[in-house]
Amino acid sequence: MKSLDTLGQLDINSILSHTGSTSNQVRKKGIKKSIAMSFALELIDVAKLKEREEKFKKLIWNSFHCLSAAKKVGNSFKGTYCKNRFCLNCIPNRMAVNINSYLPIIRLWQEPRIVTLTLRNIDAPHLIGRFDAMKDEFGKILRSANYRYIKGKLPNYCGVRITECSYSLESKLFNPHYHIITDGDELSNFLVEQWCSRFETECLETSQDIREIKKTEDNYIKVLKYTNKIFHIPNFTELDEGKSEYFDALEEILYALTGRRVWQKFGFDLPQSNEKKRDSNWLDDEEGWNIFNEYINDWISPVDGTKLSDQFFNDTKIK
Ligand SMILES: [Zn+2]
Repeated sequence: MKSLDTLGQLDINSILSHTGSTSNQVRKKGIKKSIAMSFALELIDVAKLKEREEKFKKLIWNSFHCLSAAKKVGNSFKGTYCKNRFCLNCIPNRMAVNINSYLPIIRLWQEPRIVTLTLRNIDAPHLIGRFDAMKDEFGKILRSANYRYIKGKLPNYCGVRITECSYSLESKLFNPHYHIITDGDELSNFLVEQWCSRFETECLETSQDIREIKKTEDNYIKVLKYTNKIFHIPNFTELDEGKSEYFDALEEILYALTGRRVWQKFGFDLPQSNEKKRDSNWLDDEEGWNIFNEYINDWISPVDGTKLSDQFFNDTKIK
């Protein structure tokens, strides 16, 4: 089935080794910033056409303006990130934070599993209702699982539920689904059984999936990256046919997900320090900022007109 899943994905592999920046990395960020602006403009056009609320349109505009200013702090790149979940500039940061937060917990689990809970595909007008129903029923399933755990009928109660939605260009239908990273077959089977019995006609038993996560660092990161997407990003600049349909569907998904918690942990708490890391990229002072110029894909100093990428280049040359 040709779907948005198969159209290729954004390269987000370099995020974990981000300790400093080079001139070349800054130039790449500049190119990506321009792509992110086009991406946001495509979405805003759809949102305007559908006459969405100002609040939603403002979210997309924030993403358009993301990284409008950036500067060099030590050897690191610092920017004014919007932190929107669909912003192409911010997705890698969000992914790194999630990996850093959840990896130390999941690493401790005895039998890590990834469970996929899905329902029959639906059309756009039913998307919000479907997300609501999924959330309500999954909440009931969790309460039931917790109760059983307390009564000693389930060996454990812990996991992370991640919401994702794909769209098929062929069937024109959406597939909202959950991935749950959890521990052990008993809890995994309980989640699948409950899901199928609660949704009955909307649920195909054969479409639900439980997979073992091999206990290696690489595998944990692979799974956390895999579940971090929310939606799939094609190389949209090369999409001719299907481009407007892609953005129409994507806007629909993002609108339906507005205000919803995409990552929900249950049965454990994250260490405080990991929660705090989410705010590490914000503007902390007013000096030294460079302003993005989309014609050269770089940030320019308002003081002396130098490019930000050159500021990094000069620094590494002196060393
Ligand atoms: Zn952003």
